[in-house]
Amino acid sequence: MKKHNFYAGPSILPQYTIQNTAQAVIDFAGTGLSIMEISHRSKEFTAVIEETQALFKELLNIPDGYSVIFLGGGASLQFAMIPFNLMRKKAAYLNTGEWATKAIKEARFFGEVEVVASSEDRNFSYIPKDFRIPTDADYFHITSNNTIYGTEIRHDMDSPVTLVADMSSDIFSRPVDVSKYGVIYGGAQKNLAPAGVTFVIIRNDILGKTERQIPTMLNYQTHISKGSMFNTPPCLTVFSALQTLKWMKDQGGVQEMAKRNAEKAAILYTEIDRNRLFRGTVAKEDRSVMNICFVMNDEYKDLEKEFLEMASSRGMIGIKGHRSVGGFRASTYNALPRESVEALVEVMKDFEQMKA
Ligand SMILES: *Cc1c(COP(=O)(O)O)cnc(C)c1O
Repeated sequence: MKKHNFYAGPSILPQYTIQNTAQAVIDFAGTGLSIMEISHRSKEFTAVIEETQALFKELLNIPDGYSVIFLGGGASLQFAMIPFNLMRKKAAYLNTGEWATKAIKEARFFGEVEVVASSEDRNFSYIPKDFRIPTDADYFHITSNNTIYGTEIRHDMDSPVTLVADMSSDIFSRPVDVSKYGVIYGGAQKNLAPAGVTFVIIRNDILGKTERQIPTMLNYQTHISKGSMFNTPPCLTVFSALQTLKWMKDQGGVQEMAKRNAEKAAILYTEIDRNRLFRGTVAKEDRSVMNICFVMNDEYKDLEKEFLEMASSRGMIGIKGHRSVGGFRASTYNALPRESVEALVEVMKDFEQMKA
């Protein structure tokens, strides 16, 4: 039976990425060696990392003056590296969920943190709108897509100070005006590659301004000056990321991804709003296009398990909601085909027929 992969991360990747990675594990670029056993300094691998950087720049239309680097440690290590490298005295954060909360916790190790607004009062079910970004902050940090709660800031906001965004779960889902950001970062395991590599897009002129001593490996300048090759990068994962970038380019780039993602999200949200059994969990204007959360209406609450069983009998994988929200979450990343969303909607309709 066909599997419909709605996992939140690691998550669905294009078949193109999986096939080419499998091939390179056996024989990489005609070298007769596996991508797993070739030196990261070989000309074949150097070409991979350079092309990955170049495609990042091309697909996201990254202006001059920015670097793209690939690191280990996940997005979670960036929660500490950002204040380590950028905070002189004070930073501002928008608290829109668990990942933002974790980022705030790390920043507090380095200085004063002003949380400009939080949606914790209603279980992070909306994006705060009326907040003031303090002009004496060294930077302002946002989480563009809240993977757990299913809210998203789907525009590039103006900020009087350097804007820093965790885009782990919506990078490459739409065109981004990179010039509005000082840093965009994320783990690759949502829209790009298997787990193991973290991307950081950074405007060069914001670095080197703190007096703090920064350990070599935690200093962005180390990795920028060595083209992500100061130490051994996660070679296999970078190779996979490159395949996904090539696939995206071939499909029509981020414009096309945005169009498809909007269509998929509309199909599912329309059904959530129509179906008598279900309802959405977040403010409509803040709904994520990548992680679609919904629950059963109160009078049908005890049918949750039965719905999950029926969905799984029809090939749906990974739609159980995160424990902080409950109910269901369908992640509709770039590689998820529209047919998978349509198949989920079918199950929701059939279940309603049976029960309501
Ligand atoms: C998954 C995720 C993270 C954590 O990424 P790791 O690479 O596991 O550290 C951080 N932020 C957001 C928005 C995420 O979706």
